[in-house]
Amino acid sequence: MSRFFSSKHKNLEPYTPGEQPKDNQYIKLNTNESPYPPSKKAVKCALEAAKRTQLYPDPECSELSTLMARKLGVDREQVLMTNGSDEILNFAFIAFCDNDHPAVFPDISYGFYKVFAEVNSVPYEEIPLNEDFTINVDDYVGIGKNIFIANPNAPTGIALSLCDIEKIVSSNPDNVVVIDEAYVDFGAESAVKLVHKYDNLLVTQTFSKSRSMAGARLGFGVGSKELIADMNTIKYSTNPYNINAMTMAAGIGCLSDEKYTTKNCREIERVRKYTAKELKKLGFELTESMTNFVFAKHPDHDGEKIYSRLKCNGILVRHFDKEKIADYNRITIGTKKQMTTLIETLKKILEEC
Ligand code: PMP
Repeated sequence: MSRFFSSKHKNLEPYTPGEQPKDNQYIKLNTNESPYPPSKKAVKCALEAAKRTQLYPDPECSELSTLMARKLGVDREQVLMTNGSDEILNFAFIAFCDNDHPAVFPDISYGFYKVFAEVNSVPYEEIPLNEDFTINVDDYVGIGKNIFIANPNAPTGIALSLCDIEKIVSSNPDNVVVIDEAYVDFGAESAVKLVHKYDNLLVTQTFSKSRSMAGARLGFGVGSKELIADMNTIKYSTNPYNINAMTMAAGIGCLSDEKYTTKNCREIERVRKYTAKELKKLGFELTESMTNFVFAKHPDHDGEKIYSRLKCNGILVRHFDKEKIADYNRITIGTKKQMTTLIETLKKILEEC
């Protein structure tokens, strides 16, 4: 730490991203990326845009926002495109949370919520999940604080029904409820349709998972025009050109190729089913995942040990130290071939232990 680092950040514990090894030596199942390349249309548009990077990108992100709004069935003013969904989540903390409007989120969820709260000096409370890692909806009904819920949740993969989401949103009319749908495209139900009914609902999504664009950094939020206007105020007060020209163009290309995205999502769901079945045959216990990952523990083997053994065998998965989930590993769904290798490797590891 330098002499100059503000004391207000001295206890800040930054978010720890999953390992991103520089070589290709691993089967990489640790950061929930898609195993498939981006749409060819996305790549073509990005390459074209790269030729014009002497110019700033469109700060309003007009074409992409309009296409996205049309796809979602909302007005253009109800959408804000951001640099990954991390950015819109941060904007939501900056725009809506303060001492009088603290934040709440589950104790086991996306680790960045806590960091966003800390870095923005927002008081927060982590609400324990049930024993089985489900969210107790009643904990959030009428809580009177700003709520951040990943649906489906990460790293558990478990989804809440739209009906439960509506209960939470409708019972907290004077607080913002942020539903983080980073993984919604793998079988869960989106809350976007509720934004017409509730002015306190913000839904966030990303191009990082189902659209194979994690490296391009593109996410977005959908909500009432007023919520989006507030977040635009934050955007124009921090980084008006938050989406670079290549990413913006890739996003447009990607949206013109929705068939490709849908095909990949359905394939990932099929491979998830296969993986879960095979893991159960090996004695693993899994949560009911509606995402592009599974969350698994073995009753006879330590989670950390499984993670390390897999790594020695060239397979990276994600292990979290947090006590409640230390027995588990979060395993991204790759191609069928990658998952067959995972299963074969685990078989070998379990026999050796
Ligand atoms: N929400 C959740 C639940 C996530 O797991 C992630 C990915 N790590 C994000 C948001 C942010 O993703 P991105 O910034 O790539 O859109």
